Amino acid sequence: MKTLHTLTHWCLDLVFPKYCLGCGQEGFYLCAGCAASLPTLTGANCFICGRRSPTGYACDNCRRAHCSLLSGILIASDWNNLLLRQIIYEYKYRFVKELAAPLSQLMIAFLERTNFVNMFGGSNINVLLIPVPLHGRRLAWRGFNQSKLLAQKVNDHFNLPLLNNILIRSRHTLPQREITDQKTRTANIQNAFALAENYSHLPSLRSPLERSEAIPRDVAQNLNPLKNKIIILIDDICTTGATFQDCARALAPLNPKEIWGLVIARG
Ligand SMILES: [Zn+2]
Ligand SMILES: [Zn+2]
Repeated sequence: MKTLHTLTHWCLDLVFPKYCLGCGQEGFYLCAGCAASLPTLTGANCFICGRRSPTGYACDNCRRAHCSLLSGILIASDWNNLLLRQIIYEYKYRFVKELAAPLSQLMIAFLERTNFVNMFGGSNINVLLIPVPLHGRRLAWRGFNQSKLLAQKVNDHFNLPLLNNILIRSRHTLPQREITDQKTRTANIQNAFALAENYSHLPSLRSPLERSEAIPRDVAQNLNPLKNKIIILIDDICTTGATFQDCARALAPLNPKEIWGLVIARG
């Protein structure tokens, strides 16, 4: 099977040779030199007011004023870099899956530089990754969830638990970037995410009335995997952070300790 896969790739490369998006060199979508030239950010800002925040936390005032359930958004690279924008475009809209490697590398480098994972007691067990899910319709169109692929690569590197089945996109939404006015943007994404069936019925989330009903055994045995954990939500890009905020709203009833967003760039 693997041989057939390699052979198919070899044939495709003959018909559609790859050229580096940066320098045009044949044989790669992105050569090592151009990948190394991509900017990596060294610090973080409050995602609400933009003020410098060495630890990445949004200012206390901003979080209170906006009732933000998100602790902060970590931005790995710079949207102003035209090569980076082109790579993201090819990855998302031309389905060049192998670009997940250099893109996720930017996230990994950012987390390492900021020592983010170790910031929470040094134990990886406290930090979990959750990719932002796609609606079934968009998943069918693209054939893969670009955020999940990035999360898997981050997971390969740090060996953090990745939970791909806890959050669902319960309704189809327009891509946030296609909407220019802020109000429509917020309305577009509001209540777009929900807990997956098994988790929305966790015993701890049931109302007193529901608690008197018998709990199916598989549900009762399903322990809350988010309780007191640090969650890193992973998406490719963000604009205002409304998508992350809605994911955080859906996850909050499971009482994680903190919820963060991580993206390649903020557009
Ligand atoms: Zn190159
Ligand atoms: Zn702020």
